[in-house]
Amino acid sequence: MAFAVARPKLTWPERLFLPQIFAGMAITLNHFKNMLLGRTKVTVQYPEQKLDSTLPSYYRGAPALVKDESGRIRCVACQLCEFICPPRAIKIEPGEIPPADRFRKVEKFPREFDIDMIRCIYCGMCEEVCPEQAIFLRKDYAITGLTRAEMVHNKEKLLEIGGVMHGVVLKWNEKK
Ligand code: SF4
Ligand code: SF4
Repeated sequence: MAFAVARPKLTWPERLFLPQIFAGMAITLNHFKNMLLGRTKVTVQYPEQKLDSTLPSYYRGAPALVKDESGRIRCVACQLCEFICPPRAIKIEPGEIPPADRFRKVEKFPREFDIDMIRCIYCGMCEEVCPEQAIFLRKDYAITGLTRAEMVHNKEKLLEIGGVMHGVVLKWNEKK
């Protein structure tokens, strides 16, 4: 059922619209005054000026793969992150660890691991779901490229951004 909403009846000062215009200008002038006095920063001269040091600890930038203290890639190619990624930005090609390898218990490793940064929405679900703490959203935000292909971060690039992460959650940890 439809309802007809009656238009509010404006008083004559409201019909002039001048009080509203002056109230808006007063707010603008107040911001302008605060900016002149250095109380408000409205512009960052990027890229000359960066705010990297002020990024909060929970900032979610580019996802990246990490290695452990001994230089081993933590990812075990379980593909959970590929499955959970909402925009389907992750593509993994698992490889099998040879039976003679000391890490054969792990079974798989990522032969290929690509993240399409055009698709990525920085949601952090890959980090949340990873059972091996192998993928993290780092503070990198300057993700640029001249072609679509350049915007796909391959395994080498992901490991370069990720670096080393210290911790104990490892599938090949003897305590497990
Ligand atoms: S941050 Fe989100 S969108 Fe980006 S790769 Fe991870 S799960 Fe996918
Ligand atoms: S990054 Fe984590 S969730 Fe993704 S495949 Fe590797 S181990 Fe699995």
